[in-house]
Amino acid sequence: MNVRVPTCMSCGKKIYPTSKSTHFHCPSCGETEIWRCETCRKFVNPYTCPKCGFTGP
Ligand SMILES: [Zn+2]
Ligand SMILES: [Zn+2]
Repeated sequence: MNVRVPTCMSCGKKIYPTSKSTHFHCPSCGETEIWRCETCRKFVNPYTCPKCGFTGP
Protein backbone atom coordinates (compact mmCIF):
# COMPACT_ATOMS: atom_id res chain seq x y z
CA MET A 1 0.00 0.00 0.00
CA ASN A 2 1.41 3.34 -1.00
CA VAL A 3 -0.11 6.28 0.83
CA ARG A 4 1.08 9.55 -0.57
CA VAL A 5 1.40 12.13 2.17
CA PRO A 6 1.91 15.63 0.78
CA THR A 7 4.76 17.66 2.17
CA CYS A 8 4.84 21.37 2.85
CA MET A 9 6.62 23.13 -0.03
CA SER A 10 8.15 25.64 2.36
CA CYS A 11 9.50 23.60 5.27
CA GLY A 12 9.26 20.04 3.93
CA LYS A 13 7.14 18.82 6.80
CA LYS A 14 4.62 16.09 6.08
CA ILE A 15 1.04 17.27 5.94
CA TYR A 16 -1.49 14.86 7.33
CA PRO A 17 -5.17 15.08 6.45
CA THR A 18 -5.98 15.93 10.04
CA SER A 19 -3.67 18.93 10.22
CA LYS A 20 -4.69 22.39 9.13
CA SER A 21 -3.10 23.18 5.82
CA THR A 22 -3.76 24.79 2.50
CA HIS A 23 -3.07 23.68 -1.02
CA PHE A 24 -3.53 25.33 -4.36
CA HIS A 25 -2.26 25.10 -7.89
CA CYS A 26 0.89 26.98 -8.81
CA PRO A 27 -0.14 30.49 -9.93
CA SER A 28 2.52 30.41 -12.63
CA CYS A 29 2.24 27.06 -14.42
CA GLY A 30 -1.04 25.93 -12.84
CA GLU A 31 0.05 22.31 -12.95
CA THR A 32 1.77 21.65 -9.67
CA GLU A 33 -0.18 21.47 -6.47
CA ILE A 34 1.48 23.58 -3.81
CA TRP A 35 1.03 22.43 -0.25
CA ARG A 36 1.68 24.58 2.75
CA CYS A 37 1.31 23.76 6.40
CA GLU A 38 -0.48 26.00 8.85
CA THR A 39 2.77 27.37 10.26
CA CYS A 40 4.20 28.41 6.91
CA ARG A 41 0.90 29.94 5.89
CA LYS A 42 0.83 32.00 9.06
CA PHE A 43 4.40 33.22 8.70
CA VAL A 44 4.09 33.62 4.91
CA ASN A 45 7.18 31.53 4.24
CA PRO A 46 8.24 31.42 0.60
CA TYR A 47 7.75 28.34 -1.54
CA THR A 48 9.18 27.24 -4.84
CA CYS A 49 7.30 25.35 -7.53
CA PRO A 50 9.39 22.28 -8.45
CA LYS A 51 8.10 22.36 -11.99
CA CYS A 52 8.53 25.95 -13.17
CA GLY A 53 10.64 27.38 -10.36
CA PHE A 54 8.12 30.02 -9.43
CA THR A 55 8.73 31.49 -6.00
CA GLY A 56 5.94 33.15 -4.09
CA PRO A 57 4.56 33.91 -0.68
ZN1 LIG B 1 5.58 24.30 6.37
ZN1 LIG C 1 4.70 26.12 -11.36
